[in-house]
Amino acid sequence: MPDRVLLLGGTAEARLLADELSSEYDVVSSLAGRVSELRLPVGESRQGGFGGVAGLTQWLAEQGIDAVVDATHPFAATMTAHAVAATTALNLPLLVLRRPGWQEQPGDTWHWTPDAQAAATLLPKLGRRVFLTIGRQGLAAFADTGLWTLARCVDPPDPVPTWCELLLDRGPYNVAGELELLQTRQIDVLVTKNSGGDMTAAKLTAARQLGIPVVLIERPPLPPGIQVAHTTAEVQAWLADRTG
Ligand code: NAP
Repeated sequence: MPDRVLLLGGTAEARLLADELSSEYDVVSSLAGRVSELRLPVGESRQGGFGGVAGLTQWLAEQGIDAVVDATHPFAATMTAHAVAATTALNLPLLVLRRPGWQEQPGDTWHWTPDAQAAATLLPKLGRRVFLTIGRQGLAAFADTGLWTLARCVDPPDPVPTWCELLLDRGPYNVAGELELLQTRQIDVLVTKNSGGDMTAAKLTAARQLGIPVVLIERPPLPPGIQVAHTTAEVQAWLADRTG
């Protein structure tokens, strides 16, 4: 019997991993299941929360899971904390896959902030027309800046905010499209999480070319002592080591 692996997903690299691991392991992918038009990974998958640490611990035991790979988004800190607690309780191996964050390049004007609230406080010093690309969670922090704001999300927030314009779209994006958007909407400041990866990086290139400042929200820290991989190849090597 191949090892049974829980793959916590919701990201492009989790879908890629599900594909790469499916021939050698019994993989079950887990998705929070909150976005419409879910892109399902290959193989077995489940959707929806587990019911906190207790629910996840019970689910792992019932399913006979041998190892957990957390390939959730770098800002999905609650899910990662729950994975650490549940795998510790059951003495199961856990590896977190974290894509590298974005790095500032010559020509960039980046301002780092610890969270959405700090980003909102900084914005009036930087511009008048804001492009928010932080997803739908955390939008409320920007409601009172008094600045014209365009917010891009995959799905509409609930309730739909009245203080900004919404643009419903999903990546991947390209530089030509991002340049056109920034120019036609006369954007003069961009806000993003430091998500990393290629799918949504074109906005940073476009901002650099247009000399637009970018406010970056830093990633939440990973729990201490956790094992981290940065590529799907590292995850494969880690699993191979465990299964001999
Ligand atoms: P979160 O705040 O860390 O998690 C909140 C709760 O959602 C968790 O406690 C868990 O519920 C449930 N959950 C999250 N990920 C899950 C998964 N893969 N499978 C089953 N349940 C999950 O996470 P989030 O920021 O809301 O992100 C939710 C999902 O969207 C993640 O899969 C993440 O990879 C993806 N995503 C997030 C972002 C972002 O910016 N945060 C961006 C792109 C994609 P229970 O406590 O009931 O188990």
